[in-house]
Amino acid sequence: MSGTPHILITRQDIQAAIDRMAGEIRRDYTDKNPLLIGILKGSFIFMADLVRRIAMPLEVTFIRLSSYGSGTESSGKIKVLTRLSEEVKGRHIIVVEDIIDTGLTTAYFVDYLNKKKPASVRLCSLTDKPSRHKIPVKIDYLGFTVPDKFIVGYGIDWDEKYRYLPDICYIE
Ligand code: 5GP
Repeated sequence: MSGTPHILITRQDIQAAIDRMAGEIRRDYTDKNPLLIGILKGSFIFMADLVRRIAMPLEVTFIRLSSYGSGTESSGKIKVLTRLSEEVKGRHIIVVEDIIDTGLTTAYFVDYLNKKKPASVRLCSLTDKPSRHKIPVKIDYLGFTVPDKFIVGYGIDWDEKYRYLPDICYIE
C-alpha cells in the first residue's frame, strides 16, 4: 500500500447513513434504555455521532479488544484487553463496530457477551466487507457495504494514522 488516502464515502453520505441507522435504533429501543458498547478505538467518532442522532435515553461504554496491531490482516485470535464495568445481565446491548471484515472479532465478542446473559444483543456496524467474511455475521444496523479495500478515516486508522480524516477513505 502506498499510503495515499482516496475518498470512498463522503462525510455527507456518512451523516445520512447515521441518520437512517439512528432512526431504526430509536424505533426498536424506545423505553428500553439500551447499552451501546463501542469497540475501540475505531468506533469512537461513529459512536459520538450515532448517540447524538438517536437522541433518547441510552447508556454508552467502550471495550478494547486485541486487533491487527500494525499489520492489515486479522489474526483471528481475539482477546478482551479491558473489562466491562457495566452490568450486562438483563440489558439490551447494541455492539457498535467500525468495520466487519472476517467477522471473527464480532463473533468472539458476541459470544463473550452472551455468557453474561443479556436480554438481547444486536450489532450495529458503520461498514461491512461481505466478501471477506470467514463466518456468517448478522448485522442488524449497517451503514455501508464496502469493497475489499483497506479503509481509514472517520476514526479508523492505519497504524494510528488517518483517524482524523472526515471522510471514509481507502488506501492503495
Ligand atoms: P474482523 O475480525 O472482522 O476481521 O476485523 C474487524 C476489525 O479489523 C475492525 O474493527 C478493524 O479494527 C480491523 N479492520 C478490518 N478491515 C480493516 C480496514 O479496511 N481498515 C482498517 N483500518 N482496519 C480494518
